[in-house]
Amino acid sequence: MTDSRKVRNTALGIFSALFLMLAPSPATAADGETAPARDPKQAIDEPYTAKIQKYTTAPYFTSPLVNYLPASNTVPTPEAVLGDVAGAPGVLPYAKDVYKYMRMLEKASPRVKVFSIGTTEEGREMIAVAVSSPENLKNLEENRARLAKLADPRTIKLDDAEADKLVAQAVPVYYITGTIHSPETGAPTALMELAYRLTVDESPYIQEIRDGMITLITPVVEVDGRDRMVDIYRWHLAHPKDFYPPLIYWGKYVAHDNNRDAMGVTLKLTENVLNTYVGWKAQVLHDLHESVPYLYDNTVGDGPYNAWVDPILTDEWQMIGARNVADMTKFGMPGVFTHGDFDTWSPGYLMFIAAMHNGISRLYETFGNGGADTQERTLDPEEYSRTWFRQNPPLPKTLWSQRDNNNYEQTGLLTSLHYFNENKRLFLKNFYLKAKRSVMKPAAEGPAAYVLPTDEPRPGLQAELLRVLQKQAVEISRAKSAFTVSLPVKKEKPKKDTKDTKEADKEKKPEPTTRDFPAGSYIIRMDQPYARIADALLDHQYWSPDDPQKTPYDDTGWTFGELFGVQVVRVTDLKVLDMAMERVVNVHAPGGVKGDGAVFAINNNAEPALATLRYNMKDAAMEAAEEQFDSSGKKFNRGSLVIRKVSRADLDRAASDLGLQVVALGTAPSVKTHPLRAARVAFVHTWLSTQTEGWWRLALDDLKIPYDYISTQTIAKIDDLNAKYDVILFPPVGYFPGPTAIINGMTTAWGNPLPWKNTPETPNLVGKNDSTDDMRPGLGWDGLAKLQTFVQKGGVLLTATDTSRFATEIGLVAGVSTHASEHMKIVGSVVGTRLVDSGSPLAYGYDEKVAAYCDNGPIFSLSSIAGARGRRRLGNESHTRATGRGTADDPDFTVGRPATEAPEELTSEIWEAPPVTDEQRRNGFRVIPPANRPRVIFRYADKKDLLISGLVEGGDEIAQHPAVVDVPAGKGHVVLFSINPVYRGETRGTYSMVLNTILNFDSLDAGRKLAEK
Ligand SMILES: [Zn+2]
Repeated sequence: MTDSRKVRNTALGIFSALFLMLAPSPATAADGETAPARDPKQAIDEPYTAKIQKYTTAPYFTSPLVNYLPASNTVPTPEAVLGDVAGAPGVLPYAKDVYKYMRMLEKASPRVKVFSIGTTEEGREMIAVAVSSPENLKNLEENRARLAKLADPRTIKLDDAEADKLVAQAVPVYYITGTIHSPETGAPTALMELAYRLTVDESPYIQEIRDGMITLITPVVEVDGRDRMVDIYRWHLAHPKDFYPPLIYWGKYVAHDNNRDAMGVTLKLTENVLNTYVGWKAQVLHDLHESVPYLYDNTVGDGPYNAWVDPILTDEWQMIGARNVADMTKFGMPGVFTHGDFDTWSPGYLMFIAAMHNGISRLYETFGNGGADTQERTLDPEEYSRTWFRQNPPLPKTLWSQRDNNNYEQTGLLTSLHYFNENKRLFLKNFYLKAKRSVMKPAAEGPAAYVLPTDEPRPGLQAELLRVLQKQAVEISRAKSAFTVSLPVKKEKPKKDTKDTKEADKEKKPEPTTRDFPAGSYIIRMDQPYARIADALLDHQYWSPDDPQKTPYDDTGWTFGELFGVQVVRVTDLKVLDMAMERVVNVHAPGGVKGDGAVFAINNNAEPALATLRYNMKDAAMEAAEEQFDSSGKKFNRGSLVIRKVSRADLDRAASDLGLQVVALGTAPSVKTHPLRAARVAFVHTWLSTQTEGWWRLALDDLKIPYDYISTQTIAKIDDLNAKYDVILFPPVGYFPGPTAIINGMTTAWGNPLPWKNTPETPNLVGKNDSTDDMRPGLGWDGLAKLQTFVQKGGVLLTATDTSRFATEIGLVAGVSTHASEHMKIVGSVVGTRLVDSGSPLAYGYDEKVAAYCDNGPIFSLSSIAGARGRRRLGNESHTRATGRGTADDPDFTVGRPATEAPEELTSEIWEAPPVTDEQRRNGFRVIPPANRPRVIFRYADKKDLLISGLVEGGDEIAQHPAVVDVPAGKGHVVLFSINPVYRGETRGTYSMVLNTILNFDSLDAGRKLAEK
């Protein structure tokens, strides 16, 4: 995409003649279906039509549905705003221009209504445009009431006859969303023109769509990113000979991952689309993307399919996908297919809002040029080869325009809308059936409910999890009294080896197990219409290493209870549904001050809100207890907060807001403490990618933890980092060709500067993020030296995944080496970790077992010898004695000499550094002194306990290796994470590992036990 050459083609005129020869065909074909053809009685907009033809680069890149534009005396065409036709070269509208046009349509026609559906993080508006007959739009509320009954069959007592009546009367809603991915630029203009066609075209084919259903359109999903992308494109037009800056920021926080947020719902765009989809009781959510030539309707995609969707839906995918391809094949449009390498396992994609709420999820990948230039495009053989699912493949090489893209998008959508309308009774009935089967879930496949016990040690995180479910429109109840359920007995796998164990199993009778829950426990009933999203988020995932799909498209595991660090119990006992319970509207963890005294204590259970409190009450004196203690009849964990010099009223207010329970103590505990200070935090990003760190920013902003957001370039410019900062966070880059890429950035040996700053052409680029005159330079060797000095002088540097590799490989730490995996495959999975050093402040509030997000490491190994590679495990190693006399356990002998006893071999665990030997200590200048050695806080679980959710293959490579390491370096520390503790709003249970580092930055050595030698 760096080739900015703009091809203004003149040869296109040749094709115009071909288009004009296309005569309109009769409205009804012999097969009884309405023909996809224009109404010969309706005039066409000649100049607009001529331009469509001019900008279409080949006659087969269009269809009878979009190769003309119907004329209207009253309704403006997109040209009114664009100054040219939709998809014209060089034309890319800002969101506000797209909205302006949609509102012009609304003004000009009773067939259009525009709704505001919320704002983005940067305050830009999002809209939804409804196009339908005036009759349908007048009766929106009546129709919504009908759809609501189908969406919630409890309202009609699961009465199929009643449902059939509603199905016969209801008008379905088909929701289309555009340009969530900002460099995929075609959808807004395609959707402007689509809205016009649906409003104006009198051909029977379009009329049927308009009268039969409501088309709902959000033309721009990522509005902040759209405006940045248009800026970049304008800069490119103004500097046609220069390379243009890559779109490093899309939304305020994340880029491409904005289409991975449909589980956690942390971004405004997800929340706004979800509320619109659910609020309208829509049947379809169809999301438009651009990356694959020419139209990959990944509705069918590939396996494995998500286990929690209704098979009725997966059948609908096949129907719709196959039909869509068939319709476009008949138009002679090459490169349209529906089976492909996109698996439908993760429910994180925006379109999956529909799949998880009883609708139909759909996604198009069309072919875009990343802007509105017309360009010669050359494909890879795997893109143009003819396969069983792509009998009419794309061309190996072609001139491609944004208009071509708009033709494909509109043709695909119009045929989809028409097919959906023809079969709307079927789809509406299916919509009802999927909801009904959700309601019947407890007695069918189960479970009956999920229970979150009220005696949860992390009520704040529990409330966060429940609020995610509420955003997903899941109903939450609370038990009015204590109750007991029986738990299913886990069947032991029959042991293959001996007969004896089989006998023993028979004798060992399975004992029925029960579980008691206290009054007030949260119950998520599965007999509700949106049960399947709750089930999908709270259940465990298993991706078989033998699955034929070898390249998972995204994460393979996500179990929210595990990643939030809260108890979630899957209950299959139907009795749970009969307990007395009440619906909960607002979930809030109880908080505030209780007891008498002027010293206050808060138990530490690794709740992120503790850090918020620290920053919120800047003047309070806060300390962390280095040991556990008992006071006022309560047990306080290690790391619990002891607070002084604060007004009780202020603390009570803050703690109530944050859901923190504070105990006032008569006397201060006698336990050893150290200060908990509000560290001054720098948050470092590269100009290579801001995608993965964006999730960290979002988390810190949510928690109101202040920080300076600076780039690697800025590091080199700050004379004394220690004078400004206590902690430098360097979250994952997400794009890691090697440690030198962070230092070198992009090459400056050729090309032009790539500015990321606001200019007349680019007024939206910066927003509230960072800016630079040239994105290309990296940290630089000066910057690296600055970082090193910062740590040596007492600063704390925190890194994770790829930045941990950077820190170890570039030599910022001694005693930790990183390895890439050789056969391990952990693809975005939930894995087990184990607490190794409970005395470390990093571990405050954590239990022995912590679930964490892991995406293939890196694999850490420790050594007590500077410069040495740590020991790593590559499989099941076993050491046997050398060949000699006796049995395997006997000592060998040497003929003619008395036996000598060998010194006992020193052993260590795989997460530890191998013990220093006497030989190594001879002139041992490379031996790292005990106080300087890496300190392992968490390690990965043993191989058999590693997998919690998702795919873990070859896990022995990382099992037991360190997961979180605190490395002393000079007077400071480098804290290395192999897991990613802050990810997509899903891993809140591990946030406190980072927050603990921040709050205890100057006491990280607390509780440390040193090796003797
Ligand atoms: Zn995309």
